[in-house]
Amino acid sequence: MKRRDFIKTSAIGLTAPTAIFGGTKIKTNRNAPIILSTWNHGLPANDAALKSLQNGGNAMDAAEMGARVPEADPKITSVGFGGFPDEQGNVTLDACVMDSTGNAGSVAFVQNIKHPVSVARKVMEDTKHVMLVGEGARQFAVSQGFEEMNLLTDESKAEWEKWKMKRSEMTPHETHDTISVLAQDKNGDLAGACTTSGWAYKMHGRVGDSPIIGAGLFVDNEIGCAAATGLGEEVIKTTGSFLVVELMRQGYDPTTACEEALNRVIKRHNGNPDFQIAYIAIRKDGKIGSACIKWSFEYALAQGGVNKLHKIEGMI
Ligand code: ASP
Repeated sequence: MKRRDFIKTSAIGLTAPTAIFGGTKIKTNRNAPIILSTWNHGLPANDAALKSLQNGGNAMDAAEMGARVPEADPKITSVGFGGFPDEQGNVTLDACVMDSTGNAGSVAFVQNIKHPVSVARKVMEDTKHVMLVGEGARQFAVSQGFEEMNLLTDESKAEWEKWKMKRSEMTPHETHDTISVLAQDKNGDLAGACTTSGWAYKMHGRVGDSPIIGAGLFVDNEIGCAAATGLGEEVIKTTGSFLVVELMRQGYDPTTACEEALNRVIKRHNGNPDFQIAYIAIRKDGKIGSACIKWSFEYALAQGGVNKLHKIEGMI
């Protein structure tokens, strides 16, 4: 992009109905909300997000409401209540949110709180900080009226005990499934939420990509938003979600932007990484995209009155 075009685009600012990014004309998608979430637990999450929009919520409300559904479901062993614990048997949770103003909030390594995504939103809205971790995050949650509870269900405990007997290394493609929810509301504004119990049987204290702004989630209301699932360590090393958004800014369409971000990871692993990462993205014009490194990945897309699961195949 020429400097002159860049200045023109920047000067148009947040409210421009049309902006030019990397030579691509992007017209803001208005009055046609979109909810895009990771994995099949994205379907009920999308339903809740849509309901929030119907009740007058904005993109941030929708993303948060969506993410709360798998957090509360004890049968989903990768998020919130019922999530698989770390190697010591503690359920430790990571979550973040980012809204259309570029504001962000996050909690990491938080315990005994069922809805870390809502705590992350409180951090964003009611503190001067972006991120609270561990005991401090728990104390903040309690001070805000969040109830404390044991998040380790009998089922997840039994699985952890089985794992302890053999202590085999679990890779996140076996035990993954972060929920990331991206939303575009009727005004065309974008927001996102991401929440997870992370890598099952991880080291105590491990934090993944999901609460790291720019890694697990990034929202730029001018151009688009993106979120990740999969091996968090590798997403962090490539600032994955930020990279996807910046590639869209350079003119890549959403799927190609996801692929290009994954290419950085694939190259670092000599063309054959033995783990999964998937990205989802919404561009400001309502175009959505997704890509995953290998095997397959499913995302749930709610658009135009249809909420449906879509399966994509890996790049390698
Ligand atoms: N990204 C998550 C983490 O590394 C796990 C996942 O989505 O599979 O904590």
